[in-house]
Order: sequence, then C-alpha cells, then structure tokens
Amino acid sequence: MTKKNLLKLNLNELKNEFKKNNIKGFRAEQVFNWIYRNGIVEFPKMSNLPRVLINELTEKYEINDLNLNKKLIAKDGTQKYLWKTNDNNLVESVFLPYEDKNRYSICVSSQIGCSIGCEFCATGIDGLKRDLSVSEIIEQILKIQIDVSKERYGSPKITNIVFMGMGEPFLNYDNVMKAVSILNDEKGLNIGMRKITISTSGIIEKIKTLAENNQQIGLAISLNAPNNQLRNKLMPINKKYNLDKLMEAVNYYIRKTNRRVTFEYVLMEGINDHEIHAEQLIKILKNKLVHVNLIPANPVPELDIKKPHQGVAKYFKNRLEDNDISATIRVEKGTNIKAACGQLRASYQNGG
Ligand code: SF4
Repeated sequence: MTKKNLLKLNLNELKNEFKKNNIKGFRAEQVFNWIYRNGIVEFPKMSNLPRVLINELTEKYEINDLNLNKKLIAKDGTQKYLWKTNDNNLVESVFLPYEDKNRYSICVSSQIGCSIGCEFCATGIDGLKRDLSVSEIIEQILKIQIDVSKERYGSPKITNIVFMGMGEPFLNYDNVMKAVSILNDEKGLNIGMRKITISTSGIIEKIKTLAENNQQIGLAISLNAPNNQLRNKLMPINKKYNLDKLMEAVNYYIRKTNRRVTFEYVLMEGINDHEIHAEQLIKILKNKLVHVNLIPANPVPELDIKKPHQGVAKYFKNRLEDNDISATIRVEKGTNIKAACGQLRASYQNGG
C-alpha cells in the first residue's frame, strides 16, 4: 500500500483524513503540532500518542518525500541543500541567515527543472521534469527548520520564504498556493503571508489570479532586461508575454491590491548593465508602486555569466533613486557554494 504523505494536508484535511480512519480530531492536532511546532517527523517519537495509534500511523502514512543528498555551507553562513526525491530527482533549497536583521530566509524550489529556459540559468538547461508536490515544497522548509535548529544558529525560526529556487512557481500554482496556506497556518510554522514572496518570470494570467485573490503574499517579477529585444533573448517567456503585457498585469495587480511589487534585476556584465539599460528601466518603472532589487550576478562559467564591474550596481541604484524609484542592492550570499538558481544541481550532475 502506498503511504500518504501527511504534509500535503492542512489541519482540517488531516482531521478529516483521521476521521475516515476513526482517529479522533484532537489526535490530528497533536500530530500537526509535533510536525510543525516540534519538528518531529517520526511517529514513534510523538510521545503523547498511544502505541496502537503510532503503529497505525506508521502503517498508513509517512512524512518523508525528500532525503538529504548533499549540503554545502558557505563562509557567510548560507547553506545549500540538495535533496533527492523518491523518484530519484534532485531538488535544491538555500538557507539564508541575516543574523543582524534577525531574518532567516529559505529560497525554495517549486519544480524539478524548468520549462522557461532563461539563458542565464542552469535549472532550465534540461527543461522541466515535473512539478513538486505540496509535501515536497513544505518538506524543504520543514527539514531545513529542523536542521538549523540543531546547529550553531541557536534554533532560529524561519521567518521568510521566497519561491525563487528551481522552477516557475506560477506554473505549479495550485501546489504552491496550498503549500503557502499550510506554512501560514498559525498552528503550524506560522510564517506570515507578508513574509512569503513568489518570484515569477512573468506568467501574467497568474499575476492576475493572485491580484483577484488579494492575498497578502509578496509578488516579485524576475525582469532582468528593460527592453523586449534583450528580454526575448534572456528570457524567452517574453516572446509570449512581452513587457507591455507584463506591465499591464503588474498595473492591474497594484490597482487591485495596493501592494508594492518587487522587480528583480540580475546585473550581468556586458549584457544588461549599461547606462542605457538603467534609463530604460526607469522609463518602465517610473511612478509605479514598485521596488527594484539589484542583484550582482553570481558568476556561472558554463553560461559565460560574469559579475558586473564594481560600482555598476551602485550606479543603477542611484539612477533609480534619482527618479524616485526605490531600489536596493542584494547582499551577495553563498558565492563560494554556487548559491544561484539551479547551479548546485547542474554542477553536481556534471560531477562538480
Ligand atoms: S530563472 Fe527561474 S524561470 Fe528562468 S529558467 Fe531558471 S528557474 Fe526557470
């Protein structure tokens, strides 16, 4: 009998699932509490459950879809996890501690591989294998929470989640949104909606759906090019949803939610980091409720991506701010462990 993974169920569903098996509702609360509040994912360790119930749960259910395959720790404390799924695929997540700000973020993956094929990204090289399930999404966060609790960080609580790992989260919308609602449950990990950000390459139908659902979740657009010609080249999705269509969807989102949208702009030397690109960026984003996150590229030798020259990110920031567009430069993290999107998996598969 295939065992059902409990992580794909929210608390109500867990109660209903238990009810079908004549297990009392309060047992569901206890199990939920063990998993999310205590980080206990083995039934025999759930010490307030009777032995018969532990046996029954062990027989019917599991809480294990991902096994740690490799973990890398960078000098700056960033930790990269490579997981193996039950069907032998690799998935990665990154733990990013910002201890001075008391912020502990996890960058999670939403798919195995990716169909979007951005030119600068190692994840897209082999195309999409499959969507991650709800439990596989949740397990990345839960297992990192458990892991870092044992370590030198003094049990920090994960405070922020960004869907910016492998895959396009909006092409796995239902599973991502269900995982978000479970992570947000106050009886579970209790991660605030405002602390969860979904980054999309620009799937405009889902930007509109998110606007209509008006959840408090953060929206980030992976922009990376300020004109159609360059964006078509860097992010082929732009041929389907060009900048006009993308900005129309973003405007709709802002009108509906009154929430600020973040634009991610990875600065790559000689590709999108000229003065003219800064001016084009200003033209697109001026007078809008947006924030620009400038990200100096992590070098990817296989893809000939280089870091921008020193001072370029600052120049972009200054030009944007001169035009009243809020901007920050993302602190580089995990460069020595290949912490950019998809890089660990690509290099590992190549024996790196
Ligand atoms: S950057 Fe994101 S959307 Fe683009 S190929 Fe990589 S994983 Fe997919």
